Amino acid sequence: MNVLIIGAGGREHALAWKISQSPYCERIFVAPGNAGTAQIATNVDISTTNFEELAKFATDFNIMMLVVGPEDPLVAGIVDYFAERDYLQHILVVGPQKAGAQLEGSKDFSKQFMLKHGIPTAQYQTFTATTFDQALAYLQQHTYPVVLKADGLAAGKGVVIAQNYDEASEAITGMLKNNQFGSAGSKVVVEQFLQGIELSAFILTDGQDYVLLPEAKDYKRIGEGDTGLNTGGMGAISPVPFADKAFMDKVRERVILPTLQGLRQEGIHYSGFLFIGLMNTNGDPYVIEYNVRLGDPETEAILPRIKSDLFELFKALHDHELGQFQLEVDPRSATTIFLVSGGYPGDYEKGKEIKGLETALPENTLCFQAGTKQTEEGHVVNDGGRVIAVTGLGQDMEEALAKANAAAAQITWEGRNFRRDIGFDLKQYLTT
Ligand code: ATP
Repeated sequence: MNVLIIGAGGREHALAWKISQSPYCERIFVAPGNAGTAQIATNVDISTTNFEELAKFATDFNIMMLVVGPEDPLVAGIVDYFAERDYLQHILVVGPQKAGAQLEGSKDFSKQFMLKHGIPTAQYQTFTATTFDQALAYLQQHTYPVVLKADGLAAGKGVVIAQNYDEASEAITGMLKNNQFGSAGSKVVVEQFLQGIELSAFILTDGQDYVLLPEAKDYKRIGEGDTGLNTGGMGAISPVPFADKAFMDKVRERVILPTLQGLRQEGIHYSGFLFIGLMNTNGDPYVIEYNVRLGDPETEAILPRIKSDLFELFKALHDHELGQFQLEVDPRSATTIFLVSGGYPGDYEKGKEIKGLETALPENTLCFQAGTKQTEEGHVVNDGGRVIAVTGLGQDMEEALAKANAAAAQITWEGRNFRRDIGFDLKQYLTT
């Protein structure tokens, strides 16, 4: 069976790596892919939102499975495009249609959904340019910090945590009056700040049944000690030590089941991954966000822990057999560290040769490429902000971290940066 994976990040490299282990898989194509995916698959130079070309490619190359990595094509309706042309009759697509993708594509939609279906989340109000004065009045009487979120997709940059009224009014003015995020900021969700510690739960669902994947915690800030600007993600840990059975039972009862029921009540047929960003507030889960795909870098930490054949898992999704699917999970810990370009998430230089990729990595480590490119001379160079994700596996988080750090030290280029404190905040939860 030929598989087409859409995307170009470490997540897609990890998906290609995992799917390539399946005996059912013949050829893997990644559109557009990166220098890492080129080693295990065939890169196809088609952008993730050029549906017409992607569909043509799928026909020409007898694609039978389509796995959509990032959110943009899902929110823009790639699955609807394939469905409307009857491709879903012969292609197994992993990803929701546009209606379901609104859970990520509109924060106002997802907050209304949560409120309507009794899913625990922070209190909120939504404002637009026409209700700007009410927004300022609301912010004046609000307690601080307060969270402001541009409604649409803003690549993780549309969220501001304001410490006082001045910061909040500046942020909302930027979004509603000065068009800071374009149409993504034409609505703003203002929500209560939740205290606690974050983690992410992942399910694969056909809208009825679901399989719970290993949970993960990611590290968004560029600086150690969770300081500095937000990034696409600097690292991830799986499992999460405080996500014990009691907590995950609450996630199942209070969040996952009502979410699936809510989708059905809304008449939304959902099929694909659902990533639920959660805050653990005094042992209770609150939903911060839904994403309609796997996370990056969480995928690089959770896929190495999944022992089951991913192809069989996707087949079970297609055949509505997820209810009987027994996911086999490696009990070991996985930790992922992202190596990024110097200056990221601000400006950075591209084209620096990456050294150390050709040397064998330490045992129990993996390397997934993201912003990389192969030059005509055959060198791999950095071509984006987040460049390489290294994952270490170990009996516990400490061992996994030591492995990931050893792999991180081996791969270098001019200016490369990474956080050396991934997982440190979780050490207090580890039982010895
Ligand atoms: P990303 O794409 O990076 O996941 P996003 O732009 O979709 O982010 P959110 O996940 O909703 O936006 O928010 C980004 C981050 O802001 C969260 O991971 C969390 O750290 C923080 N945050 C969001 N909402 C709240 C809240 N209500 N209370 C406390 N922190 C919050």
